[in-house]
Amino acid sequence: MAEEYAVPKLENFLAEALSESANGLRAALNREVSRLALGAFQAAKCKAPFEIEVKAFRDRWLGRKTGIVTQINEVWLRAAPDEHKKAVGQIVNELRAEIQREVNEAVDEARAASLLTPSELREVGADFRQFFLESQRLDITLPGIRRPIGAEHPVIRALNEIVAVFKAMGYSVSEGPEIETDYYNFVALNFPPNHPARDTQDTLFIAGQQSKPPRDRLLLRTHTSPVQIRTMEKLAPPIRVVIPGKVHRNDAPDASHSPMFHQVEGLAVDTNITFCDLKGTLDHAMKALFGSSVRTRFQPSFFPFTEPSAEVAISCIFCGGKGCRTCKQGGWIELLGCGMVDPNVFEFVRNNGYDPAKVSGFAFGMGADRIALLKYGVDDIQLFFQGDVRFLEQFA
Ligand SMILES: [Zn+2]
Repeated sequence: MAEEYAVPKLENFLAEALSESANGLRAALNREVSRLALGAFQAAKCKAPFEIEVKAFRDRWLGRKTGIVTQINEVWLRAAPDEHKKAVGQIVNELRAEIQREVNEAVDEARAASLLTPSELREVGADFRQFFLESQRLDITLPGIRRPIGAEHPVIRALNEIVAVFKAMGYSVSEGPEIETDYYNFVALNFPPNHPARDTQDTLFIAGQQSKPPRDRLLLRTHTSPVQIRTMEKLAPPIRVVIPGKVHRNDAPDASHSPMFHQVEGLAVDTNITFCDLKGTLDHAMKALFGSSVRTRFQPSFFPFTEPSAEVAISCIFCGGKGCRTCKQGGWIELLGCGMVDPNVFEFVRNNGYDPAKVSGFAFGMGADRIALLKYGVDDIQLFFQGDVRFLEQFA
């Protein structure tokens, strides 16, 4: 049996949505009327009683408490805001009269058909066949049911754009678990236990793990960098890989912070990779993402897993570097961290061909949400995660 029709909530109370919903209801009624008539003929053929089906059909549409006529009153008319009440009321009234007329007609016809004698049935046999074919016919002129088409979420779109830039340079894509061990998230990235750099990443630990050795304790990864180690454990050099994904920190939500956000990590390891390669790669990537007039600036910084490390800023995409509110008059926007892979990190994967005396590499990481904020001119990161369709459909 086909799925039962239920009165849908209206998306809005404008004429178009109303008439679309009314047409959906009419199509459902047509289907059920055909089904009832067919049932009636079949009941007559086997001399089976049909009154229960007829009554069920009538109650389903006209029943006082839960009938569909009552439902459209509740779901469409009562829910309508005052300014639309009059228009909605008119349509609901027309529809109600139409349904009553058609249901009563269908009920009379079905009762009559279910009582046909074998000879009468033979007489209408040809009609019955015709009727059966008609009921199976697909009326392609009926209005369709429009389903809203989804769209890429702006953060996912930014992630995909960033990944595409690096793919075009020959990078492959890697992913890793969001629930990570202390070893991969910290130890193997040269954050020893009690290292102060751990304090810069306010970490969410899984509770109740005191009995485990510290390096095996589980946490929500605070960066995508653990996938660097996981990738190097699996693949021998040379590698070039980008790692998009979700990360978590115990940050209070505000316009620029969210306890969950997205990073894209990059890692290139080979013989003779230099800081020049890092600069050239990121300069090209920033131009590909923000336009060819964008300049990049590298300033010394510190990360435990790279040495030397740098903070990369791009010339402000809003004022071109002259100074504006977004860049706090400085002309530059800090966007990512990077550096040459620390030899201590290679020591953790030395057995897989990463002898720090033979290979070198660089790594970088950027916040995809922050890049989406800049690219799409959004001023509050919370908007990305509140699921408000009015905001999200602007990106469709
Ligand atoms: Zn600016």
